[in-house]
Amino acid sequence: MTTMTIARVPEANAPFEITEVEIPEPGPGQVRVHVRACGVCHSDSLTVAGAMGNDFPRAPGHEVAGEIDALGEGVTAWTAGQRVGVGWFGGCDFTCDSCRRGDFIACENGLVAGIAYDGGYAEYMIAPAEALVSIPDDLSDVDAAPLLCAGVTTFNALRESVARPGDVVAILGVGGLGHLGVQYAVKMGFETVAIARGSEKESLARDLGAHHYIDSTTSDVAEELNKLGGASVVLATVTVPDAMTPALGGLRPRGQLVVVGASADPMQVPPFALIPGSTAVQGHASGTSKDSEDALRFSVLTGVKPTIETVPLEEAQRAYDKMMAGDARFRMVLTTGK
Ligand SMILES: [Zn+2]
Ligand SMILES: [Zn+2]
Repeated sequence: MTTMTIARVPEANAPFEITEVEIPEPGPGQVRVHVRACGVCHSDSLTVAGAMGNDFPRAPGHEVAGEIDALGEGVTAWTAGQRVGVGWFGGCDFTCDSCRRGDFIACENGLVAGIAYDGGYAEYMIAPAEALVSIPDDLSDVDAAPLLCAGVTTFNALRESVARPGDVVAILGVGGLGHLGVQYAVKMGFETVAIARGSEKESLARDLGAHHYIDSTTSDVAEELNKLGGASVVLATVTVPDAMTPALGGLRPRGQLVVVGASADPMQVPPFALIPGSTAVQGHASGTSKDSEDALRFSVLTGVKPTIETVPLEEAQRAYDKMMAGDARFRMVLTTGK
């Protein structure tokens, strides 16, 4: 029996166990990915808590970069040895109403890597072929990994928003998602405002290209945005709804508060914050595997890069704890092998 190391959660809210299990075999329509790097995302806490109904034990991980190690029956579009990634979009059924309309990210039976099946906190993982993302040659595994959730989510949210080049766009939160959101906003040609708590992140945000910085602890976010003419889009990457709503007053008419920071806590939105300017609160769900490929290509083309700290897979708990404490600068990435 050939085994592999996996970092998995044995039961809801339990610490990770680092253990050896048999290397899984790909079924029809699936591939086995030899994982080289896996980003540690705040949404991994959903797996740890079982918040989306996952089974236990379960290995989280939906920012996976590696290469195809074995092909299951019927997989013809991919080859062994090809560098691939797997992101939040972990598969779809192709048969539900959303899929029949081509809206695969909204699949009623959509799969999320690390929730529906063991994700990238392991040396190997099995993924459906439709979840695979081709990784460009110029991008390393550790840099590609965070782009497959944090990257594509912010990239796709911005390009699908109402913002057009030259518009004022604010990124709320300069963390795992936000530090990429700031870079994408700048490279897409937006007048980019970074908003975070305290002054500590100002120089970081400016290094990432932000044209403006708002410290939400000392200034009125809406007022500051309005001084710039109002934001077309505020991209909320923080996971605290109470931190999102103050930005509503800083939207220009027809602007959007686009929410990507995943939280189950309620958000208080006074209707009168939306009506006068016909503004909107809009959710955004990541992107498909092809959207991820677009994000990777755009990143290589424009020089967008995640700021990462790598940690061996065996120290998954430490990496996860650091991320949850908000101390990651800016993305923890687990690595396998020597
Ligand atoms: Zn994620
Ligand atoms: Zn579907």
